[in-house]
Parts: sequence; C-alpha cells; structure tokens
Amino acid sequence: MKYLILVGDGMGDLPVAELNHRTPLEVADTPFLDTLCRQGELFLTHTIPEGFPPGSDVANLSLLGYKPEEYYTGRAPLEAAAMGLTLAPEQTAFRCNLVTLSHEADNQVRMIDYSAGHISSEESHQLIAALDEECATDIFRLHPGVSYRHILLVQGESPQMDTVPPHDFTEKDVTAPWNRYRQDSRWAALMDKAQAVLAHHPVNGARVAAGKNPANSIWLWGEGKLPKMPSLAERFGISGSLISAVDLLKGLGVNAGLSIINVPGATGYLDTNYAGKAQAALDALRHQDFVFVHVEAPDETGHQGLLKEKIQAIEDFDQKIVGPILQGLQASGEDFRLIATMDHYTPLCLRTHTASPVPTILYDSRNTDHGSGLPFNERTAEAENKRLHASMANGELLMEKLLERRKQGLPS
Ligand SMILES: [Zn+2]
Repeated sequence: MKYLILVGDGMGDLPVAELNHRTPLEVADTPFLDTLCRQGELFLTHTIPEGFPPGSDVANLSLLGYKPEEYYTGRAPLEAAAMGLTLAPEQTAFRCNLVTLSHEADNQVRMIDYSAGHISSEESHQLIAALDEECATDIFRLHPGVSYRHILLVQGESPQMDTVPPHDFTEKDVTAPWNRYRQDSRWAALMDKAQAVLAHHPVNGARVAAGKNPANSIWLWGEGKLPKMPSLAERFGISGSLISAVDLLKGLGVNAGLSIINVPGATGYLDTNYAGKAQAALDALRHQDFVFVHVEAPDETGHQGLLKEKIQAIEDFDQKIVGPILQGLQASGEDFRLIATMDHYTPLCLRTHTASPVPTILYDSRNTDHGSGLPFNERTAEAENKRLHASMANGELLMEKLLERRKQGLPS
C-alpha cells in the first residue's frame, strides 16, 4: 500500500462576482480531482486551530499529522531547517523577506511588493551576500534562501518585537509595524543599514532600469526557535518523501524525518517543473511508503489577486500533478490511498489567507464504488459535510485516517 498527500497551496477561494459567483476551483477544469472526489470521500478539514494565524506553516504542519498547539514554534525555524541551518537552542530564526517599500510624505511607509517582484535567486543571493557582509554582527547573520525568502539568525536573547507577514500588507500602509520594529535600537540600526546597502547595489540599479520592483528593504517576521518533532517514522513506522519548491515545506519535511526531493526547475510559481515533480513522486514511491507533494502557484496567484492565473494554477495542479501521479500509480498496479486538498484558502478578493476549513478528498484505490459522486470544490465539500452531519476533521488526524492506523507510542 502506498500513501500520498497532494496539496494545492491556497487553492480555496470565495465566490467571485466575475465568475457568476462561483469560485476559481469550481470554474477550473479539474478532471482528475473530480474523478478522485466522485470515487472517494469528500469532507472539510480544520487545518488552523483557533487562535493561530492562518499560515502555510501551521496548516501544512496539521496536514503532516502534527498538532500545531504542540509542535509549532514559528515559520522561520522550519525554513532554516530546509536550508540546512541547524539552530542552536539559544538561537532564534527570523524570516527575512526582500521587499519593495515606498517611503511617502509625512513619514508614511507603504508595502509595494512583499516579494520584490519575485526577484530571482541569482539576484537575491548577491543582495543577501552584500547585506551579510555589511550588516552582520555578533548577534545577526543572514543566510540566502529562494527568491525573496531568506533567513536572519539571531544569537542569544532576541530583541522583542511584534512582527507581521509582509504578504498581508500588499499595497497597504505599513507605517505602524515599521515604526514598531524600529522601537528597538538594534533592529532600527539593522533595517537602516540594510536599506542603505540595497539602495546602492547594482542588482537593484539593473532592476529599476528594467522597470522591475527593486528589493529596497528587508522585512523580518515568522520568528521562532527550533521545534522538537518526533519523525513520522517514529510515530507511524512509515518512510516517506516531501516534494516542494518552498523552503518552509522542506523544513517541515526535515523536521518530520522525511527525505526532501529537490526537483530541478521547481520554482514555486506557474513556471514550475510540474512533470519533474510528478515523476519524482512516483519514483519515491517505488522504495518508500508515503509522499507529500506541495504546489505553491495557486497561493502565489491568490496573493497577487490574479483571477485567470489562479484558475490556471489550479488546472496545472490537476492536469500536471494529480493526473500523471494517478496514471502512474494505476499503471504500477499497486493499491494506494491518496489525500488531495489545500492547506488554506487564499481568496483573490482578500489577497491573503483565511482559516476556513478546507475541502479534502480521501481516495482509496480498493474502494471506488461508494464515493461522494460529487466534483471537487468548496461548495460540494460544504454540502457533503452538511449532508453527513459531519463535524470537521482536525488536520492532524488526517494522517491517521490516511494510514488507517493510530500513531504508535512515542519513544520516551
Ligand atoms: Zn499555504
């Protein structure tokens, strides 16, 4: 028996007026998800416990079978793990975005772009190297990640500040958090120095000349210390792999004891190497029990508020990930159980995540005759939940449901 979880990040959405009040998932052509849904169970899953921010970190931790209340320490330590950084107990990791800020009249600050135009890693690594050279101290060190996503490691007692994710503030006023960050003189000095270095860097000169958003500031958030998670092998006795373009997901995988498969050309966007990811999943299942495949593009297009692109990202997930994996498994003749879902909604009208329970398919290749009979979308999942009078499953229980077993006693 093989086990899979396929995640279209941020696929869920609210009805869109332009689509006759249907959602992108309802409108998208998703023959493979719809087949799995018709022949499988359809239900709603709570991935975000009450009181938690609806981040991909918390949501995917849930989907991997870990109760966020017990295991979540912050987003940045997970990304640091993906980058091969081992946090010492006294260190704190911060996510360090390269962003485009605009300093306007009356000391107002605006977040133009949380991703500095999805800056390439080739460009951003030059900027991070310059920043680390100029700004590093005994306390602060910078480490390059992918595109606009980097890590700041803080040694010893971290300056306290109330951080916010920059993607929640796209094209919005960030004067209040900006000023809050600057209350501690160490942070203020770091942020000022970083802006000075970035302002004069030739990479930004070239970006401005090409009409692209410059990476003119750093933005710190998602801080936390090293989490202590028992592996999925310890908990369930399974081996597995995780496939994602995104460091956060790879970090979750590292902490869950999964093998991380780095697929060449996986970008976390519409131009990702879908075929490579699908093939890598099938290859992993030849020698392992479980694979977790994560596709980022529906979330990114949701944050950008791009309707056509979000529909495209959902169709790509269906036809280039779910389809080939399904066909490969069927050709192998092996029995499998598969969950297809999303981690959270990223509604186009909000351009950020919400904590709504997510539509989830559980498909078992041995039992396809008594499925929901419904296509896969938000509306059918809600209707099915109501029809079955089902309470919403908690995300961390999905793994037990998928594996048809209770977790084994944890090693003491
Ligand atoms: Zn997400």
